[in-house]
Amino acid sequence: MIKTAYILAISFGSTFSFTPKVVLRPNNVLYAERKPFITGNWKLNPQTKDEAVQLAREISSHVTPSSPCDVALFVPYPFIEGVQSAVIDKFPIGAEAVIPELAGAFTAGISPPMLQSIGVQWSLAGHSERRTLFGESDEYINRQCKLLIEQGMSVMLCIGETLEEFEKNLVGPVCEIQLKKCLAGISEQEMARVAIAYEPVWAIGTGKVATPEIAQEVHSICRNVLREMYGDDVADSTRILYGGSVTPESVDGLMAQPDIDGALVGGASLDADKFGRIINFVPSQVEQLQIA
Ligand code: PEP
Repeated sequence: MIKTAYILAISFGSTFSFTPKVVLRPNNVLYAERKPFITGNWKLNPQTKDEAVQLAREISSHVTPSSPCDVALFVPYPFIEGVQSAVIDKFPIGAEAVIPELAGAFTAGISPPMLQSIGVQWSLAGHSERRTLFGESDEYINRQCKLLIEQGMSVMLCIGETLEEFEKNLVGPVCEIQLKKCLAGISEQEMARVAIAYEPVWAIGTGKVATPEIAQEVHSICRNVLREMYGDDVADSTRILYGGSVTPESVDGLMAQPDIDGALVGGASLDADKFGRIINFVPSQVEQLQIA
């Protein structure tokens, strides 16, 4: 009988090596156990429900059985149900934020149970625009994460350093502090419902994408923080996405990095063709070895 062994051949030069556990996908392409996850964040766009539904339909047409990843869209509240119908359950539609309260006098708040009641399972938390424009602190973001998880939902926790922190070589400590504060009190089991998005603030909406090497280095630091906090299983299974001006031109290089498990895409997720190309990124080469 012929046994087939697969080796993920990733060539990144000599700076590091990586031997991920591999799985064989139905289309015979191999990926690390963390299935890639490409997500869009529409922010305060588009301007009408009709435009949102149209954009979602067009994006959905790019998601096929051979797309190499899971997909999700984080969209403004008023568009959620229309967009859910437009993508016909092909992929989940998430919210861009929640407030960490269940009910009461919180005018304009949207709670996790409200979202669940319309079939939403995912929310962003900690996006840098929420941190800077709406004053959301690590402690507040931690309450959002905990409540989402308590309520049975999943959270994409965004972290990342400012340009000043980047220039002062503080990327590692900043990400470590944000991870530790925002994930405080979340158990190893609950981490199954957490994905992390590393988004350098200087790269969001600026057209300045981090190089694959820089992003890889920070993702590896973040994964080591998770390892220290939760152990190997959580560190090796948590998906860490990169966000910051990802485009069709930059996605393949980013996705070739061993610790980059996907992308959180702002601007380019408003263009169905661009986002479609990002969803259908070209995976790094895999080699198949046959051992008699
Ligand atoms: C974002 O909104 O999270 C983001 C990364 O935006 P952009 O892709 O436009 O930089």
